[in-house]
Amino acid sequence: MIIILFGPPGAGKGTQAQRIEKENGLVQLSTGDMLRAAVAAKTHYGQKAQEKMQAGQLVSDDIVIGIIADRIKEDDCKNGFILDGFPRTVAQAEALDEMLSEGGVALDAVIEIQVDDSALVDRISGRYTCANCLEGYHDTNLKPKVDGVCDACGGTEFKRRADDNAETVEKRLKEYYAQTAPVLPYYAKKGILQQVDGMKSIDDVAAQIAAILAA
Ligand code: AMP
Repeated sequence: MIIILFGPPGAGKGTQAQRIEKENGLVQLSTGDMLRAAVAAKTHYGQKAQEKMQAGQLVSDDIVIGIIADRIKEDDCKNGFILDGFPRTVAQAEALDEMLSEGGVALDAVIEIQVDDSALVDRISGRYTCANCLEGYHDTNLKPKVDGVCDACGGTEFKRRADDNAETVEKRLKEYYAQTAPVLPYYAKKGILQQVDGMKSIDDVAAQIAAILAA
């Protein structure tokens, strides 16, 4: 099964992708995570991407398309994957179609997580991840069961993203509406776009997504 989780920054794509990964055995492919790893490792791609990411702008299509094209050829993607944060432009969506048809596979669903803009800044500014396994948490909505200890791996180091601040969030939202929202009609025309109400609790959103995947 190949799924796209779609929505603005802070909609809950990463949180839901991690749930689907655990429950359905699909691999989460987050271009944001891959780019942050490339920045940390100071690779050629990472150095090119860093400035754009810090400014809340999109990284060039060539870079992210190249990263995804390589990643989906790896063995762990054979049973399917969840795309989280890709595609973010119509050119990326077109490139993805080409990659999938070359591989003889097709998208099963594009799920748009709909969230009011007013909720996004709070969601983004409160979120953090385990520094070891990247499990996601939030200051108020999703705390670890034991304070200061990651539920998933027992790690005790946590980190916040450099671009999760109010000023950059505004820019990321502008980019979303200018460049990413226009991808929605592309999938609507194909008849594979579905919506879930992302203002509900994490469990409720997960149940809405599970119902779509089971249909
Ligand atoms: P995310 O973790 O999905 O919020 O992505 C963090 C940042 O990485 C974005 O603000 C962009 O700068 C960059 N990025 C992630 N995915 C993409 C993509 N598909 N296309 C372009 N830039 C991306």
